[in-house]
Amino acid sequence: MTKSDNHESTGKAPAFFWKNMEKKTKNTIFLVGILLVFSVIGLIVQKLKVSDSGKVVVVTVNGYRTATLDLDHDAEKIIGDKEHGDYNIVQVKDGKARVSEANCSNQVCVLTGEISKEGEIIACLPHGVLVYIEDREEEAP
Ligand SMILES: [Zn+2]
Repeated sequence: MTKSDNHESTGKAPAFFWKNMEKKTKNTIFLVGILLVFSVIGLIVQKLKVSDSGKVVVVTVNGYRTATLDLDHDAEKIIGDKEHGDYNIVQVKDGKARVSEANCSNQVCVLTGEISKEGEIIACLPHGVLVYIEDREEEAP
């Protein structure tokens, strides 16, 4: 009793505690520490994954969702009828989306260029086409 009182007064209680702890207890603390480190690493990796690949490119025509493309996979999608009518070609490359080609009157959608961040949008008003980035988690069925 007097011993611990002494150490408390000198302010070296933690070191004293550690020194006199049973080996088993030390091992347990060590293991828990390792587990904590691993779970933190796991969380960071998971978070990186989500922020890295959690986006999709959504294409709507006149308000109707007609295509959803993964922003992490290069792809090309023809929206509309390229042979006989209005069309826009949506291209996904290197984590970015753009309208690479369209036969609309003003070419605004083509000239808009690439989008890659959530909330960015490409609009083709003549065709009623919208292309925008969305978080995969928020994807509606
Ligand atoms: Zn257009």
